[in-house]
Amino acid sequence: MAKQLIQNASWLLTEDCNFKCDYCFVHKRPNVSKVEVGERLMWFLLNQKNATSKSTFSIGFFGGEPTLEWDVIEELVNIRNLHDKRNQVRFGMTTNASLLPPERRNFMKKNGMHALVSVDGPPQVQNIHRKTPDGKDTWPLIEDNIRGLIEEKLTNTARVTITRDTLKYMAYSVEYMLEMGFNNVAPTPVSDGYDPFQPKDYIEYDRQLDMLDHLVKKRIMAGKPPGMNYYQKCFRQLISGSQMTSPCGAGRGYIGVNWKGDIFPCHRFTQWPEWKLGNLEEGINQEEKRQMFLDYSTHKHSPKCISCNVLFCGGGCLASNYTNFGTMHKIDEASCTLSGIQFKHAKKLYEDMKDEPKFQEAYPGLFKKKKAKKGGNQEKKLTKRISNLEKELSELKKLTLKTSNAVLEIADRKGGV
Ligand code: SF4
Ligand code: SF4
Repeated sequence: MAKQLIQNASWLLTEDCNFKCDYCFVHKRPNVSKVEVGERLMWFLLNQKNATSKSTFSIGFFGGEPTLEWDVIEELVNIRNLHDKRNQVRFGMTTNASLLPPERRNFMKKNGMHALVSVDGPPQVQNIHRKTPDGKDTWPLIEDNIRGLIEEKLTNTARVTITRDTLKYMAYSVEYMLEMGFNNVAPTPVSDGYDPFQPKDYIEYDRQLDMLDHLVKKRIMAGKPPGMNYYQKCFRQLISGSQMTSPCGAGRGYIGVNWKGDIFPCHRFTQWPEWKLGNLEEGINQEEKRQMFLDYSTHKHSPKCISCNVLFCGGGCLASNYTNFGTMHKIDEASCTLSGIQFKHAKKLYEDMKDEPKFQEAYPGLFKKKKAKKGGNQEKKLTKRISNLEKELSELKKLTLKTSNAVLEIADRKGGV
C-alpha cells in the first residue's frame, strides 16, 4: 500500500542564529546546509510515487535563523522557478524577522512566500529572553520588518513563546500582536525542559485565558477570526463533536530535514539521531520507524486519552513526550493540565456563542454539515416512522379482512341458523 504522501517539510538549513534566546531548543553548532540539499528535497517531494501533477508541496525554511542563509534561499527559489513550471512547490519560513529588509520582502512577494514570525510580544516582553549574542535588545531589529511583513501580507501568524516569567503578560502580548495586524497569534508555553510550569502557574494561566476569552469573543462578534489558533481548533472539534487522535502530521504528511539532508519525523526530532528515517538521496529507509508515526493514534497508544473530554489535543506534542520520557507514547501530566485549561475556556466560550449568528457565520461549512446531519437524522426518523405506520396499516388491513371474514362467516352461520 502506498504510504501517505509527504506534502510539508521543514528544512533546517542552518543551526546558526543571530539571536541568543535563552529558551531556544536548537543546539547551536555552526552547521550550515547547501542549496544542493534544498534541491534534493524539492525533487524528493515531487518524485514520490503517489505524487501527481496536481499535488502541492511546501518547504519551510527553518533554523537557527534561516534568513542568515538568504543566498541559499534565493538560489533554491530560482531553481524552483526554472524547473517546477506548475509551481507545485511553495516556500515559507519561520523567522525572527530581523533580517528581512524591504528588498528581501520584495523577493518574497514576487515568489509567493510567507513567514511565520517568532516574536514574544511588545518590546518590554520581547527583550526579556530574546537578546542578541552580546546581550542587546532585539525589538529595534525587528519592529520595522514586522510592520512591513504585515502590511505587505507576507505574514499572518506570530508565534509567542511563553515562559514562567512572561506568563503574566500573555494576554497583553497577544493583544499587542493582534493590534499590530497579525490575524493569528500562537501563545506557546516553552518546552524541551526550560524551566517548566509549576502548579501555581496554572492559576495565572487560567487568569490570562479569562482575559483572552473576552478578546476572542469581541473579535468574533466583530466578524473577525478568533485570533488564536487553538480556540479555532477547539471550536471545530466541539462543532463536529469528534476527538483528535494525533497532535500533528509528524512522520505522516510532514517531515523535518536537517542541514545534511537526513530525514526526521519533524523539525524537533532532528536533534535525535535515533529518529533518523532516511536521507534525501536514498529516501526513507527506516520503514518501521515511519510506520510508528503512520500508526500513531491516542486510541491505540494512550488509554487515558480515550476517556478524556479534551477534544482538540490529540495526545500532546510527540517530541515533547520523547523529551520528557524517552517515548512518544507517554504524556506529561503538565501538558494535559495546560490542554485541559485551554479546552475549558474554549468550551465555555463556545457554549456562550454557539447560537449567535456571528459565530455560526464564522464556521459556515461546519454548521451546515451539522444541520445536514441533524436534518438527515430527522429524515431517517421520519422514514422509519412511515414504514412502521405502513406495517401497522397492513396489519390493520389483515385484521380487518380477518374480522370481516369472521363476520361474514358468523353471518353465514347466522343466516344458516
Ligand atoms: S489532555 Fe492529556 S489525556 Fe486528554 S487528550 Fe490530551 S494528552 Fe490525552
Ligand atoms: S511532534 Fe511536536 S513539534 Fe513535531 S510536529 Fe508534532 S506537535 Fe510539532
